[in-house]
Amino acid sequence: MTRCKIRRCRAAASIGRRRISRNARLTAHRTTLIGVTDDLISDLDVVVVGGGQSALAIGYYLRRASLSYAILDVARAPGGAWQHTWASLRLFSPAQWSSLPGRLMPGGTSYYPTRDEALAYLADYEAHYALPIVRPVRVSSVQRAGERLRVIADTGAWIARAVVSATGTWAAPNVPRVADQHRFAGRIVHSARYESPNEFDGQRVVVVGGGNSGAQIVADLAGSATVTWATRRPPTFLPDDIDGRYLFGEATARYRALTEAAAPPPPRLLGNIVMVESVRRARESGALNAVPMFTSFTDDGVLWPDGRRTREDVVILATGFRPALDHLTPLEVVGPNGRIEVRGTHSVREPRLWLVGYGEWTGYASATLIGVGRTARATVEEIGRALDATG
Ligand code: FAD
Repeated sequence: MTRCKIRRCRAAASIGRRRISRNARLTAHRTTLIGVTDDLISDLDVVVVGGGQSALAIGYYLRRASLSYAILDVARAPGGAWQHTWASLRLFSPAQWSSLPGRLMPGGTSYYPTRDEALAYLADYEAHYALPIVRPVRVSSVQRAGERLRVIADTGAWIARAVVSATGTWAAPNVPRVADQHRFAGRIVHSARYESPNEFDGQRVVVVGGGNSGAQIVADLAGSATVTWATRRPPTFLPDDIDGRYLFGEATARYRALTEAAAPPPPRLLGNIVMVESVRRARESGALNAVPMFTSFTDDGVLWPDGRRTREDVVILATGFRPALDHLTPLEVVGPNGRIEVRGTHSVREPRLWLVGYGEWTGYASATLIGVGRTARATVEEIGRALDATG
């Protein structure tokens, strides 16, 4: 493509960007894109799939790079996965260390924001930067289309020179198989659907999972339900005065080692559960005792390794998530482990695809508010170079 054509194409796309931005606001809560015609949306530099914190960080740098782009999000409202976490959740780092690039979360250096404050921050962030987010748009597949990628959504098709997938993990809960699950007459709920202790009031509940979610849900339920905490391995706790800032520091040290081609330093502390206030309180009241995982379900409860049977109403699976990558299946890049082979955030097998925010494999600390900025910046710089090179 000649320089002149590129300029024309970018000018058109820039109109598209403004139109899409305006239409993003106009079409919120609608299922069709009003006034965005095929020729305006078909000539974008970048389509970002997903509209959570990772997509916003990418949008922040795309905006500064003057690339034309749109962010497609299936959710009806801002906030990504934060919309689905439980009401009492508090962030594990103070506000200043829970911020996306360019704009601090209000609260300063010692206040741990609530879920609702995180949601308000993300809504404000995308409005402040007028990010061109179109909702609700469900991307069902990304396919090759000559030199470009075609993004197929429930509202139509988008063509882009590069695609950033930032769909997170919430849509793909990890559900372990436990023997005789079909026999259990009670409820089995994944932590992805856990909202508050109210719906479990007075019930007998087993919480499965030895990570932060498991510990926090046990803490949340203590006082309203009869709770047993079941884990495959004994849970490990970080010291009380350690929070997400420490984890980010560790991630930064590993990132530096990687960029300097040195061996990453071993973690200085062993443990994975951050002692947020609710978890500390649960420990102090004696509510935080894990037992080895039950071996099977029974008709009305579970069977424990020591042969005991207990009656249970609900089993909550705080067993984590997998990357939500179904939309990338047509590209044949998703490996048997459910991940995509990447160099940095760039797909090794599909040069027009980048992946952001899924966890350590897409960048140290990239699944956190403070951490995703670093990978987002590197990703957009790389996309800029790649698009310049292809003309
Ligand atoms: P998401 O937030 O999941 O956003 C992805 C978006 O993509 C969603 O809006 C979704 O609707 C959309 N989407 C998915 N599929 C499609 C599709 N096919 N088409 C269109 N759109 C699609 N991080 C911190 O920094 N601090 C904390 O204190 C903290 N606490 C946490 C506590 C818990 C219990 C959990 C589970 C996580 C916590 N995290 C924390 C991590 C953080 O919440 C997530 O890592 C973060 O939400 C990931 O952001 P994301 O933008 O990558 O994905």
